[in-house]
Amino acid sequence: MGMCKPSGGIFKVVGHVGTLDRFGTPNSRYDLYNENGELLQQRWYGPNGNAYWDRDWKHGGNHEFPHDHKWEWDNWEHPGRPAYKGPSGELTNPNFE
Ligand SMILES: [Zn+2]
Repeated sequence: MGMCKPSGGIFKVVGHVGTLDRFGTPNSRYDLYNENGELLQQRWYGPNGNAYWDRDWKHGGNHEFPHDHKWEWDNWEHPGRPAYKGPSGELTNPNFE
């Protein structure tokens, strides 16, 4: 189950990785850009306003981009959420846009 065309809207935010909150407008997506207009991260929020999915376009470390992370609110033992990798090896979930 994806969240195509978020009914709560899409918001543009300028900042740095870490700027986006864990809570946002319900059923929305926030697109985070840096001052140079580069897309850094997209975050999806569910009906309760809790973040539940990230798509990372740029951050520190040696990673492939983009890649997705699923939020696990009931599992804070793993704050560094595992990167999403689909059944065909894809790094993003096509159900999210
Ligand atoms: Zn990441």
